[in-house]
Amino acid sequence: MSRFLKENYIKLEAYTPGEQPKDGEYVKLNTNESPFPPAPEVVNLLNCSDIERLRLYCDPTSSKLKESLAQLYSVKPQNIFLSNGSDDILNFAMMAFSGKGAVFPDITYGFYPVFAELHGVPFEEIPLDEDFSVNPNDYKNKNKLIFIANPNAPTGKVLPLCDIEEILSTNPDSVVVVDEAYVDFGGETSLPLIDKYDNLLVVRTYSKSRSMAGARLGYAFADESLIEDLEKIKYSTNPYNINSLTAALGAKTAECEDYYREKCRVIAEVREYTAEKLTEMGFEVLPSKANFIFAKSDKVSGEELYLKLKERKILVRHFTKERIKDFNRITIGTKEQMDILIESIREIIKEK
Ligand code: PMP
Repeated sequence: MSRFLKENYIKLEAYTPGEQPKDGEYVKLNTNESPFPPAPEVVNLLNCSDIERLRLYCDPTSSKLKESLAQLYSVKPQNIFLSNGSDDILNFAMMAFSGKGAVFPDITYGFYPVFAELHGVPFEEIPLDEDFSVNPNDYKNKNKLIFIANPNAPTGKVLPLCDIEEILSTNPDSVVVVDEAYVDFGGETSLPLIDKYDNLLVVRTYSKSRSMAGARLGYAFADESLIEDLEKIKYSTNPYNINSLTAALGAKTAECEDYYREKCRVIAEVREYTAEKLTEMGFEVLPSKANFIFAKSDKVSGEELYLKLKERKILVRHFTKERIKDFNRITIGTKEQMDILIESIREIIKEK
């Protein structure tokens, strides 16, 4: 830290992203990326993209991309906000709508408290129930900015739409962010509710189900007035937040829905297979609707399993937070990758 850092950032604990190893080949099951490439049409577009045009600034309105998404999701372009990864939207939402503070579960996406700290927003972390589910009653009449990841991360558990609606209707004067980073793997989207609730912001990403984590593209749906507020923040920070290549790839992706649906179906199938195998080995596996599972064993600690798998060049995600330190979050890869994982876990347990 330099002596120049502003006082309010000195104690800020930055978010730690999952490892992106550079030392050779790993079975990489630690950051919830898709094991599949983008659709052939998308790959093809990249191959023949007009690189010469990169000398020009990109379209700050990303109008073509917005139109493609509007068509796919049957909304108006004015109901869509785009950003450089969905983390940016969550950050902008924290900046824009946290006037009365923020609320989120104790076990959820680790970036929410970081954004709150970054902007000096007082926040409350509400413990998940004993079984790691969100109790919607805990969020009634909070009158603060609420973040709900649905499915939740790192648990993978879902909250039914009726519970989301209860949270929305009992907090009419504050924004409720429903973070749907993992919704395409079996969750239920809150998108239809944007017409009914002007306080709902539904946040999505291309990083998981759309095989584009490296291109950085997030999008959100909401009432036009909320989108206008987010645009104000965007135009006050970086008007060109979506680069031309990502915008072109994103628009093409929206035209290849069948391809991505099929990949999500396969991932969900492999998820159930993996959960079954781990359960057979004595693991407790939380019921997940995401592209990862959250699992613990009473034969090996969460940390030891993480380290032993890493020695075998398999990366999973371990969190040190007391309540979840016995668990590991395992991204669902291909069936072949999961078989390698399952065999390695079997060996690790046998060695003990
Ligand atoms: N929300 C949740 C719940 C996540 O797990 C992630 C991935 N780390 C994100 C948002 C952010 O994803 P991205 O910025 O890649 O769109």
